[in-house]
Amino acid sequence: MKYSLLFLAAFANVAASAAEPPYTFIEGKVPEDVQPDGNSIVFEGPNEILVIDTGRHPEHTDKIIAIAKARKKPITAIINTHWHLDHATGNARIRSAYPGAKLYTSTAVEGALKGFLIRNVEKAKARLEDPSLPEARKADTRLYLNAINDPANLIPDQPVKGTMSVKLGERELKLHLAKYAATEGDVWVHDPASKTVFVGDLVVVPLPFFDTGCAEGWRQVLAEIDRVDFQTLVPGHGLPMDHATFSSYRSAFDAFTACAESSQPTASCVATWIQKGAPFVAMHPDPKYSEPALAYYVDQVLRVPAKRAEYCGKPNETTR
Ligand SMILES: [Zn+2]
Repeated sequence: MKYSLLFLAAFANVAASAAEPPYTFIEGKVPEDVQPDGNSIVFEGPNEILVIDTGRHPEHTDKIIAIAKARKKPITAIINTHWHLDHATGNARIRSAYPGAKLYTSTAVEGALKGFLIRNVEKAKARLEDPSLPEARKADTRLYLNAINDPANLIPDQPVKGTMSVKLGERELKLHLAKYAATEGDVWVHDPASKTVFVGDLVVVPLPFFDTGCAEGWRQVLAEIDRVDFQTLVPGHGLPMDHATFSSYRSAFDAFTACAESSQPTASCVATWIQKGAPFVAMHPDPKYSEPALAYYVDQVLRVPAKRAEYCGKPNETTR
């Protein structure tokens, strides 16, 4: 009896370790009244902690720091999949706890600090003076202003300029750079040992966010990711998915952006994602969220030549 119990216990351990991922997934919250946090991933090495994306709100970032404190290991590396502030604002908070943390990301933030990120500074300052604005919105505004006033915590000291490796004990993470996709430079991470890819906002539920996106480059990197031997994909927002689910996301993405590039009416393109991306649309708590967001991206981003020029890195392009 004693032996069989021991055997069962050992067997249960093996089964648990086979099923458990070698990282901690911290889901970013998407609250209704404030700005979202992106997902974070925490890897534990023999003597150190590595984190992919750091969130926006202190409550999110503090979950990462709590893991490092509990394991009694310093955070030595931050990988930002991209510079959007729901993924990178937490860098400063992590660095104030762990000043030695190196920042791996693309240099795209340098352009964003001269363009997209500073465009709203005056409006943001005005919001802080508005007595009717709820305190939670003001807190978000202060996080934004603090982040862009502190560019050293957004600009990489380990720039990702192509494919590179980061070692964590025996584990070797492969960092890849996608140019002109969700941003001018998106980093996606492949862990061959666990057959997992961490792709930031290259995959987002319930729909792709095109605020700084370029459809062509984005389609290319989704095709590249689809060729990788992985079992689990961790998106920038939403829960991890398997490879087959990602492939269906990719085909919905291709159909939606092809429609946006054609002369079909906006409503047809919206319907394309609503149908082909139905499983992803259903993951959002608000069934009315997706249609207006998709229409906005078709009319206000994907079909606006100036935005295509800016986000696709084609400054001389004036027509589609
Ligand atoms: Zn995001």
